[in-house]
Amino acid sequence: MPLDTRHSTLPAMPALHLLGTGAALSDPHRTTTMLAVSDDASPANTLVVDCGGDVLQRLQACGRSIDEVDGLIVTHAHMDHASGFPLFMEKIWLDGRDRPIPVCGIEPARAQAQRLWDAFAPVHEGWDGIPPIDWRTVPHEHGAPVWTQAPWAVTAAPVDHGDTANVGLRFEHAGGDGVLAYSCDTAPTSSVVDLAQGADVLVHEANGVGDGHSTAAGAAEVAAEAGVDRLLLVHLPPGDKRDALREARQVFPHTDLGAELGTYAW
Ligand SMILES: [Zn+2]
Repeated sequence: MPLDTRHSTLPAMPALHLLGTGAALSDPHRTTTMLAVSDDASPANTLVVDCGGDVLQRLQACGRSIDEVDGLIVTHAHMDHASGFPLFMEKIWLDGRDRPIPVCGIEPARAQAQRLWDAFAPVHEGWDGIPPIDWRTVPHEHGAPVWTQAPWAVTAAPVDHGDTANVGLRFEHAGGDGVLAYSCDTAPTSSVVDLAQGADVLVHEANGVGDGHSTAAGAAEVAAEAGVDRLLLVHLPPGDKRDALREARQVFPHTDLGAELGTYAW
């Protein structure tokens, strides 16, 4: 039985939940790449990253609750990262939330979420008690603060996603020295090497060859250069990934494919 640390004085233990591990088009069991971090030492502090699908259903499928969500980070304006925002809002409203919901992102991502929500205005303008959206614009620059409320310190850095403005994220846990880095969608870039410096876990995309994306081996080179402990590959294309994983492990042995709905300590 998992240890319940919510009411104990045990050291806080941050967890990563891979709510989706697929590319926009992926395997039947993988949805779009979305993730969350939680810390059971204190309540309602879960941060969710991206909502290209039904992200709150995926959170529940990881054994978590909608009520524990403290904020949403939207990384960039692409459909497979932002299009589920109106559904996210509908669900937190139906769940009975009344406190504001912080939504953080660089301007193009924040504006995309706002447009998507506004597109449904004829539906939701008559709803009572929708939680206020606390829009928070993140500067598109290295080290930009995204979240400063304990137990998380989250910073962003621009990454190389072709013509689309996008950021990777670094999560530092206040309860210790735990560090998690997330590349988001990007070609291999020194920006993620900097962002992931010394991280316990690097979650890196491995969409494959293409403008603004990485191969698994390219992700492994970033992991090796950053000196991380572990690499998890996400944003996975459909089909057999054994060759890609083998190539990545030749560069960085502690590499795994991200498990759909997997939970990892960091
Ligand atoms: Zn993208």
